Amino acid sequence: VELCAVLLGDNVEAAAQELVYRGADTVYLCDSEALATFDIMNYRKNILAIAKQAQPEILLLGATPIGRSLGPRLAAALGTGLTADCTTLEIDEEHHLVQIRPAFSGNILAHIKTDTRPQMATVRYKIMQALERDCTREGRIIRVDVLLEDPLALLVKLPAEDEKRQSLSEAEIVICGGRGLRKPEDMALLHDLADAIGGVVGCSKPLVDEGWLDKEHLVGFSGNTVRPRLYLAIGVSGSSQHLIGMRAADTIVAINSDPTAPIFEVADFGMVGNLYDLVPRLTAAVRKSREADDTGVPVCG
Ligand SMILES: Cc1cc2nc3c(=O)[nH]c(=O)nc-3n(C[C@H](O)[C@H](O)[C@H](O)COP(=O)(O)OP(=O)(O)OC[C@H]3O[C@@H](n4cnc5c(N)ncnc54)[C@H](O)[C@@H]3O)c2cc1C
Repeated sequence: VELCAVLLGDNVEAAAQELVYRGADTVYLCDSEALATFDIMNYRKNILAIAKQAQPEILLLGATPIGRSLGPRLAAALGTGLTADCTTLEIDEEHHLVQIRPAFSGNILAHIKTDTRPQMATVRYKIMQALERDCTREGRIIRVDVLLEDPLALLVKLPAEDEKRQSLSEAEIVICGGRGLRKPEDMALLHDLADAIGGVVGCSKPLVDEGWLDKEHLVGFSGNTVRPRLYLAIGVSGSSQHLIGMRAADTIVAINSDPTAPIFEVADFGMVGNLYDLVPRLTAAVRKSREADDTGVPVCG
């Protein structure tokens, strides 16, 4: 099966080669100054033209803000269906794409097939592991004549730098709280630690169900998949639904009062104890070491 990628942007030829190293057999390259920033009309127009010409059996987009806005528009223009936010993809024995995603508030896993072609889906960010880079791989890079819509007065709001930093899926450090926290005000402990260490706060499902945090902060099967450098699980037991969303983190540190909590089975480091005692001490230690970095004076203890 030939795997094709569509790459849009300005001065992105090197990235096209990178896509070949990562598994693409063919890359359709739309390289133009006009595509330097995301413009829904121009991006849609070019992908649509390529899809009509290449007639793919399957057309996938990332379930990112950009993919989520392009997906439905492309599906409507191609006269096909779209399954949004898939967490798993499979090919059945008849070579149909099985699009799997949580449904009904995450209570069931829906298996969806599409009669029309192409079979289209958006796939949740970071749920799939990128292929190893193989710089001996060869592929075709096809430069496409870029099509542009008539200029329209479109106002596109790009996220500010500090908004971007808040994205849980992109975070390098995630501080995740669970039902070990007794009341919503105690979330301040996690926010303090996140501020000190430069992380983003996430949570397990009970905290979202209680309305302590929005679903954007949810880690796991029904929420976000994260792959940070450091994941701190605080008062989280480590249910299978939670682990699905975070077990690919580089380093997992768990704080839990129960030494038999399943989270310790996946943790690289564990602290058995009361989070109300340990978290403030950890925050103070991080602050102290940050101050030492600033002054150049090393801090011990
Ligand atoms: C279809 C479906 C989808 C789901 N999707 C998700 C999902 O996406 N994400 C998710 O997280 N869950 C999900 N769940 C829920 C999941 O099954 C668990 O119920 C949930 O993950 C448990 O959250 P928790 O670990 O915070 O709470 P608990 O399991 O209650 O664990 C709390 C932990 O805190 C510890 N603790 C208590 N007090 C302290 C203290 N003072 N100091 C230190 N530790 C303490 C306890 O020892 C315990 O291990 C889903 C469930 C279903 C059925």
